[in-house]
Amino acid sequence: MDLEVFNGLLRPKSIAVIGASDTPGKIGYTVVKNLLESGYEGPIYPINPKGGEIQGLKAYASVLDVPGEIDAAAVVVPAKIVPTVAKECGQKGVKGLIVIASGFSEVGRDDLESQVVEIAHEHGMRVLGPNIVGILSNSDQCNASFAPFLPLPGKAALVSQSGALLIAMDASTYIRRVGFDKMVSIGNMSDVNFADMVAWLDQDETTGCVSLYIEGLKDGRRFMENAREASKPIIALKSGVSAHGAAAAASHTGSLAGSGKVYEAAFEQAGVVMAADLNNLFDRTLALSLQPPMPGDNLLIITNGGGVGVLATDSAERYGLPLRYAPDDVQAELQNHMPEFGSAKNPVDLTGMAGRDWYQDSVQYAFAHKWVDGLVVLYCETAMTDPQDIAEGIQEAVEASGITDKPIAVSFVGGERSEAAMRWLVEKSIPAYNEPDTSVNAMAALREYARNQDLAAHSFEPLSDVDEAAAREVIAKVRAERCRDMTEIESKAIFEAYGLPVANTRLADDEAQAVELAEAIGYPVVMKIVSPDILHKSDAGGVMVDIKDADGVREAFNTILDNAKAYKSEANIHGVAIQEMAPWGTEVILGSVNDPTFGPAVMFGLGGIFVEILRDVTFRVAPVSADQAAKMLADINGAPILEGARGEEPKDRQALAELLSRYSQMICDLADEVQESDANPVIVYEEGEGAIIVDARIILKDND
Ligand code: ADP
Ligand code: MG
Repeated sequence: MDLEVFNGLLRPKSIAVIGASDTPGKIGYTVVKNLLESGYEGPIYPINPKGGEIQGLKAYASVLDVPGEIDAAAVVVPAKIVPTVAKECGQKGVKGLIVIASGFSEVGRDDLESQVVEIAHEHGMRVLGPNIVGILSNSDQCNASFAPFLPLPGKAALVSQSGALLIAMDASTYIRRVGFDKMVSIGNMSDVNFADMVAWLDQDETTGCVSLYIEGLKDGRRFMENAREASKPIIALKSGVSAHGAAAAASHTGSLAGSGKVYEAAFEQAGVVMAADLNNLFDRTLALSLQPPMPGDNLLIITNGGGVGVLATDSAERYGLPLRYAPDDVQAELQNHMPEFGSAKNPVDLTGMAGRDWYQDSVQYAFAHKWVDGLVVLYCETAMTDPQDIAEGIQEAVEASGITDKPIAVSFVGGERSEAAMRWLVEKSIPAYNEPDTSVNAMAALREYARNQDLAAHSFEPLSDVDEAAAREVIAKVRAERCRDMTEIESKAIFEAYGLPVANTRLADDEAQAVELAEAIGYPVVMKIVSPDILHKSDAGGVMVDIKDADGVREAFNTILDNAKAYKSEANIHGVAIQEMAPWGTEVILGSVNDPTFGPAVMFGLGGIFVEILRDVTFRVAPVSADQAAKMLADINGAPILEGARGEEPKDRQALAELLSRYSQMICDLADEVQESDANPVIVYEEGEGAIIVDARIILKDND
């Protein structure tokens, strides 16, 4: 990243406003006015062909007439003039263009947009936008946008793909008590995108936490890389996660993926914390911008009301931080700061009699105790206590504890006095919320951040005992004949080339050969239709299991062919597969999709016919290490089935994890050819007994 250029664009020391105006109501007027009002200290150069004076500043006909240097140019002229303006900026040596103007790719003028980027790049400039609100920065006192004022100052930075949302969020920072140092609108992302912003904000010393509103990423893998490398918390709200287009997907995996699942996985793998909605984005941003990550799972809640305590307990479970009782020594000590009828378990209930002292003493003791990984303090406004008093008690306790490596969050439920106390707490870097649920959720965000950082540290070591060339040969042969769908036999050949354990499967052209193969494989056998036109073989009556002798093979051979013809008369039939029959075990599914944003991604779930109904599956962007794969096995709701539930033996999760990792390598290596694939089912056995793939399918990319 060329820091000088990016700094010029995002923290400009001088700004030209191209299309500046003296007419209120015009954007070119508003941007100049906002720069002046925000107290921007660098030179502002209004550019307007008429020259003269604009809002008391000397105006120039062109940037080329400006005597001094220009770091950034805010461009508010009509779209069709932007290329010309960009050229002049390039000649002038401007570093970055903040293209507020609209009328580009969002209305189908992709040509105009790429023209601007091309010109910019020729001159070493970067482009923010087009179709944006602009940039806002408290530390630079710079409002180069048409949003009316700078946000409430704070440590977070917001990058938003939606301009309208940015303006609304800017305004709402004041009532939500969430401070931002910067807000950047990135609109069409013709050039500078989320990946760039994450990298730049990570090195920007006035940013403490990065908050993103994302509709879609342009370069998913680079975003993941930059996010993973970032040392600051990143939190993202992703819209548009409904499973649109999933119905069109050909495989199980495709229909299970939707667009949200892979995003979710990618964010987690990259250490990005997700937000559920706008409120949640603000609330989590507040916590992540003020507090350190939560180092372990031990959350302690201190409250003066049983009701809010129970609510928070429910929330803790909901957000993956179920409460545990504090150890005896903690309970014994806390008992000293509450009446007889209080409770020192967890939540710690100081009772409605609790005043400042009890709060302060218990918070100070608990926060400093090594068992506690994070503290949530709840307070219900009472007639006897002053919220400000309680707030000060909490703050002093935190300070006196000297602890800075674990988080605290509070919720004050009450009226205006509580509101004021919470504002004060936030100023002291203690995140404060109105609802008990919210502070627990914020704590969960701090825990997720810590967990995701661990995950992001896993690295994948590619296996060398794979035969990519052999796999590609199979693909080439299919390509020469057809376009997309590979048969089970062809798919298994590729799986085998990658060293994956596949049930021995052979193709028979006629009855006699079928019997011969069955005898060689050994009874019982399974027989299946082999046709690129029949993807769901059982649906076509194309699968027969447990065939025990030659007569059975002959009969099955004919039945399967008859069924297939009846199912799809025009199907191109290659023959009938004879395969070893795997012993009974637990059926799971592995799948892959080639995601438009993130590329190859793997899926794992419990198999069987209900997979699409239960949707109990988990995704990761590929490749995954065996360690990461093991985490996938634990991720699904049905995990206890693999871990050994209800008297059943635990299943061979290690074999499964290794298989999944190897499979993920296969789909990455072949990502230029493979669109989707699955192994459904893979039958897994008890620990040490391994797993075997009995059905496999690969769907190639549509290359025409
Ligand atoms: P499809 O998914 O195309 O309908 P499969 O090959 O998955 O066909 O076969 C359907 C079911 O038959 C599988 O889910 C599995 O339960 C069983 N099955 C298939 N092949 C074997 C095999 N080689 N050994 C044991 N069971 C098998
Ligand atoms: Mg199957």
